[in-house]
Amino acid sequence: MSSEMIVQLNEKSRRMKFTAGDILTWPLIGPFLRWRYSRRVMQTVLLLATSVFVFDGLVGPVQAPKNLATVSAWVHYRGLVVLALLVAGNLFCMACPFMLPREVGRWLGAKWGLQGNVPKFLRNKWLAALLLIIFFISYEYWDLWASPWLTAWILISYFLTALVVDTFFKGAAFCKYVCPLGQFNFFGSLSSPTEIKIRDAKTCAACHTKDCIAGNRQTGQRGCELWLFQEKKSGNMDCTFCLDCVYACPHDNIGWQARLPLQELWIDPRRAGIGRFSQRWDLTALMVVLVTAAYLNAFGMITPVYALQQVISDALNATSELPSLLVIFGVGFLILPVIILAVTGYFSRLLSGRSGEPLGQVIRRFVYALAPLGFGVWLAHYAFHFLTGGLTIIPVVQSFLNDAGVSAGQPQWQLGQVVPADWLFPLQTIFLYLGVFGSMVVGFQIALYQYKDRHVALRAFIPWAILVGLLLLAAFWIMLQPMEMRGTLFIGL
Ligand code: SF4
Ligand code: SF4
Repeated sequence: MSSEMIVQLNEKSRRMKFTAGDILTWPLIGPFLRWRYSRRVMQTVLLLATSVFVFDGLVGPVQAPKNLATVSAWVHYRGLVVLALLVAGNLFCMACPFMLPREVGRWLGAKWGLQGNVPKFLRNKWLAALLLIIFFISYEYWDLWASPWLTAWILISYFLTALVVDTFFKGAAFCKYVCPLGQFNFFGSLSSPTEIKIRDAKTCAACHTKDCIAGNRQTGQRGCELWLFQEKKSGNMDCTFCLDCVYACPHDNIGWQARLPLQELWIDPRRAGIGRFSQRWDLTALMVVLVTAAYLNAFGMITPVYALQQVISDALNATSELPSLLVIFGVGFLILPVIILAVTGYFSRLLSGRSGEPLGQVIRRFVYALAPLGFGVWLAHYAFHFLTGGLTIIPVVQSFLNDAGVSAGQPQWQLGQVVPADWLFPLQTIFLYLGVFGSMVVGFQIALYQYKDRHVALRAFIPWAILVGLLLLAAFWIMLQPMEMRGTLFIGL
């Protein structure tokens, strides 16, 4: 018996063994997920649900809190996504309904010979970062949360863009380089407690076919479209949890495994499909946009923003809201982050005593320390909306069914809060403290990874710790302001 066959037998026997830290070995859920078509089932369910949301958005009630499109997109989707990222991983990408038009695009592109490689200058996160900025400005300018019709059209454009991009470009071009939701999920999953990764390095070393990346010729299962070769994969960046690698691996050597959350932020190996974090300005920009947007998105919903907009509009003598929004977002996304990162990086380098180190290198290395706090702010914000308006889905569905001619009883419009109101701020505080704790740990570990010497690391870390502390105060200030209850239903509407 060849050593490869022995390895295979060992793998098969282990496949049956329950391991608490590997979700793919759990009873019921493990066999379901290991079934090659499980993802299609989840995608189809979400596609059907999204089609209903789009339909209601186009022809249903015009009041946002009564419409399935707005309630599901702005209250439930966002809240459930951040909570799933916190406790499990990138579950939305795993079941993403936009994958189905992508598959159609892939098929059409291959059939008509339209597919080519993504141009080299687009193989990065710059476009995605720009799209995120455009989205956040549009969200405020057009009050997207308040318009079922616009929300429906956003969903439709998403399907069309995924279809077109994957018709013309090979690989998972839409997921990796374009999709703003995907980038948010990659960012959030950096803090998740699980990862798709190999079970045993020796099995990979003995494997000659590398089907997890090359595809499995026997079963026709494709390998990882996002170029995350399992042997060299490190962390969740760019991983859609699609499980293609799991289905392709002939040795059943890939699991959905528990891990030390955040660790991937402080190590800096050359990662498959990504390279080194510290060498990529585009990833730095993506981190900055998503951390900053956590603040700007929440800031856009509190009372002081209206006074600030008025002051800017008066100064510019503008009657439209757009100039003041562009000023606020321009300062927030660009000017403030550049100044703050340059000053913090400068003092970090000064205190470390490594004056020869390029400032850009210091910033690209330490910016990941801000990711956990940024995610904590997203959690505190989106969980607030979900916990204050989560139960509105019940009367909204009742109303939708009644309008469709299916008797679902009198809509219970008084339903809304998932937890008592006085739980909200303590829960937000927990999320913010989790974020700040994570940022402090990551910041110090980055310094240690970078400088090896504890004293040097501590000195280099101090300016970043001060920045994290100030960002925490800013987050608390925002959370303590009265917040608009966007998309939430009130009795009497
Ligand atoms: S994960 Fe990839 S390299 Fe490792 S055993 Fe499976 S196919 Fe081979
Ligand atoms: S590594 Fe690639 S194939 Fe495997 S789950 Fe992640 S994105 Fe999918």
